[in-house]
Amino acid sequence: MDVLTFGETMIALRADRPLAMNPNISATIAGAESNVATALARLGHDVQWAGRVGDDSGGELIRRTLRAESVGQDHVTTDPGRQTGILIFEQRLPDVTRVGYYRQNSAGSALTIDDLAPALAGNPHILHITGITSALGASAAEAVLKAASAAQGEGATVTLDVNYRAKLWSREEAAAALRALIPFVDVIIGSPDEVGLLIEDRAAAPADSASALLSLGVREVVLKLGADGATLHGRHGLVHSPARPATAVDSVGAGDAFTAGYISGLLTGLSAKERLYLANTLGAFAVSSRGDWEGLPTRSELALLDAGNGTALR
Ligand code: ATP
Repeated sequence: MDVLTFGETMIALRADRPLAMNPNISATIAGAESNVATALARLGHDVQWAGRVGDDSGGELIRRTLRAESVGQDHVTTDPGRQTGILIFEQRLPDVTRVGYYRQNSAGSALTIDDLAPALAGNPHILHITGITSALGASAAEAVLKAASAAQGEGATVTLDVNYRAKLWSREEAAAALRALIPFVDVIIGSPDEVGLLIEDRAAAPADSASALLSLGVREVVLKLGADGATLHGRHGLVHSPARPATAVDSVGAGDAFTAGYISGLLTGLSAKERLYLANTLGAFAVSSRGDWEGLPTRSELALLDAGNGTALR
């Protein structure tokens, strides 16, 4: 197994205008970790997503969608006592989306370390976790901590996308829980603000936050900078890579795509510069199409970004 990731995936209802305005709605799925898993599978990696879904149509939607994407689900548990969570994307402006969550006591939030133990026994090269899972409740937070510690003990590379969600917890709660993960994490990915959260100094310059995390034993700190691309702070210094030119139509999911590109680069032994370039390429694909994961590229499509606007592929 190349990568194991786990977390909560939800039914995503996509409304083309605010809910109160009687929108057209389509149903799909969304979850930061399953977005990363889908992106990695499209690039040809062997990836497993673990988590809990309800014994309901939403659970079936998640399973069918991930199966179609060749994301392994050997360790997905169906929880008969809980429902699959829901999120609603309301399109407000062409690239401004409001996200509402209906996930309290959901099946996904009831994840435990027992759900993950068999998956960890598969010895993934990389364990990818996000800060969202730790915010879902005590058992999920414990699962993240134990999984990171176990994976590190087995020699896996542990990647963490901070993914701070203000609707789930306060900055103080997030800082306390996520700081506990740092000793088990090799690569931290986040926005400058999120990295500041980890060192509990929001005003710190990004380079100072990154060097504080490096001094705690983290190998690489990767800063996502939106349309400015990304910067890697590592033990051998700093590498920056500008964003790929793209017409942004929907920015949601760009961070997950970026993370998947970076992880793919780690798996295939790319240099730091090449990893950032691939990560920026996936981020550009994500912002160029609607949906969190639908527009992600296969490996053979990566060069499409170099085709000029108006190109017809015949
Ligand atoms: P989200 O949480 O919405 O998924 P994020 O805040 O985690 O996103 P961003 O920094 O907005 O992540 O974007 C991630 C990456 O996507 C950037 O580092 C860059 O590679 C790419 N990206 C974002 N916006 C643009 C843009 N306008 N043009 C090209 N690439 C972009």
